[in-house]
Amino acid sequence: MKTTFILTLAIALLGFSLSNRDKIIIGRINLDPTLTAYLDLLIIELKDSTLVVGRTNVNQDGTFCLRVNSNRPLDLFYYGLGINETYMQTLFPSNADSIIISLKIPKEYNKKGRKVVCPKCMKNDNTIPITYGLHATVIVQHISPKGDTTYTPYSKKEYYEGGCVTSEIDPKYFCKRDKIKF
Ligand SMILES: [Zn+2]
Repeated sequence: MKTTFILTLAIALLGFSLSNRDKIIIGRINLDPTLTAYLDLLIIELKDSTLVVGRTNVNQDGTFCLRVNSNRPLDLFYYGLGINETYMQTLFPSNADSIIISLKIPKEYNKKGRKVVCPKCMKNDNTIPITYGLHATVIVQHISPKGDTTYTPYSKKEYYEGGCVTSEIDPKYFCKRDKIKF
């Protein structure tokens, strides 16, 4: 009875210590050569759902290193001054002590039919394009013969409004299921 208890306690403690080991995430960004000026601005962020668990700048050579203490799936984003938060991929730190990743920026988008596939849920049924700048606010003005003025959106197609600030590496799509820009 006592042995069983000690054994259980030992396993629990061992499991606890193992699960609380820091995980090292080493990454390299393969940035298009024409866009290397963005390297100085890029920040890599890891989130557990909406909670930020890690954040780091990107080195001049495009590499970055993060230390996290989590066994849960973590979403990796990049953002920066004038660069909107962009989802890249989900990491699973429970599988390994260290994770080596390579990120291609700008992203390549996968399409299924005419719609882009979300890189997180791998589905295309809830993805919509993001518009920036004027496109987001263009409206058509109607003036009736009586002089009444009405406005309707420029397009009936559904868009996510990305705001005015935009860069060449901003996210182009939004997934309504995951609430992520990618
Ligand atoms: Zn999704």
